[in-house]
Amino acid sequence: MSADPVPGGGFAAVFGGAPDGVWYAPGRVNLIGEHTDYNDGFVLPFALAQRTTVAGRRLDSPQWTVHSVLTDETVSFGVDELAPGAVTGWAAYVAGVVYALRTDGFEVGGAELYVDSDVPLGAGLSSSHAMECAVLGALADLSAVDVPVARRPRLVQRAENEYVGAPTGILDQSASILCQAGHALFLDCRDMTGEQVPFDLAGDGLALLVVDTRSPHRHSDGEYAKRRATCEAATATLGVPALRDIGQDRLDDALAALPDDVTRRRVRHIVTENQRVLDTVALLRVGEVRAIGPLLTASHASMRDDYEITVAQVDIAVETALRAGAYGARMTGGGFGGCVLALVDADAVDTVAGAIRDAFASNGFDQPVAFIGVPSQGAGRLA
Ligand code: ADP
Ligand code: MG
Repeated sequence: MSADPVPGGGFAAVFGGAPDGVWYAPGRVNLIGEHTDYNDGFVLPFALAQRTTVAGRRLDSPQWTVHSVLTDETVSFGVDELAPGAVTGWAAYVAGVVYALRTDGFEVGGAELYVDSDVPLGAGLSSSHAMECAVLGALADLSAVDVPVARRPRLVQRAENEYVGAPTGILDQSASILCQAGHALFLDCRDMTGEQVPFDLAGDGLALLVVDTRSPHRHSDGEYAKRRATCEAATATLGVPALRDIGQDRLDDALAALPDDVTRRRVRHIVTENQRVLDTVALLRVGEVRAIGPLLTASHASMRDDYEITVAQVDIAVETALRAGAYGARMTGGGFGGCVLALVDADAVDTVAGAIRDAFASNGFDQPVAFIGVPSQGAGRLA
């Protein structure tokens, strides 16, 4: 959890004096639509109430000093260190944002930045993007440089891809920047058009339990690359621009044209998952939140059996949540560990979370961390 009851309240102890402002960007979860992004398909993330805050003060010289409460470290860098690889470790995410902005012609100046966060690191909730998006907002405003919102996701992607060296896509930072409170963001990954879809849990007496299973992401990079390669090969075999172009109505014909069982199952996951996103959006548009439960559970089964990206911890968390009364549950994120979502009655949160804790204890797993996912507002300025 954040160390400061007041966002940025610890700035003075590190830098002396007061910050010029405080900016934030949230973590996110994907409600449904997994591995569909690189198939030109559909995703449906929402922003969490958990967020990273950045209290910042402008400097007149091109020098950046950043302190993170979570790492309890202060790192400084200047213009000479804006080449990829010069700053390493957690501060590379910050240097990467300065690098991306300046190489794209946004001449942001120096700053002192005090970073705090209650987004769990490395749990698949995009703490890295939360920090980058908040830093970007701070740097733009501190230097009075107009960085159009529509360009921000790409800039953050360049920070991660080119500076940090992490081969991440465009969705997570889009969610952190563009999501609105009480909504999920329906994104079409072909043209990156979006629609804010009402997602009112509390009004329906519902809650979305997020469970960080704290299972290690073993082999996730290699397996991710294999899944992408299989999808690309299937696309070529089927002669379509992307698997998104196979609708549910053409699935049987497509499967019959594929060479082996593994490829067939991978393609079936992508095609059915895209349809599940569309079905979920259709239900949310008319306020039928409870009815999305079976779609969440079907998504999990598809990830487990067809895409084969789940691990024992997430499977057991999902099964336990369903047995304890959840309307639906699924792993969220790229897989091989990470978080599980369970749609539950608001007054059943403790029962379901307790059942998952008990199941983990009896299986000898590390204890999970559970919280309620509240669809929240994307990045902005606090003070
Ligand atoms: P995720 O983004 O899913 O949480 P990543 O591995 O992409 O996982 O990013 C986590 C990394 O981001 C951390 O190991 C750390 O280097 C950096 N990071 C994120 N938030 C902070 C923070 N508040 N302070 C310092 N480093 C952070
Ligand atoms: Mg990340």
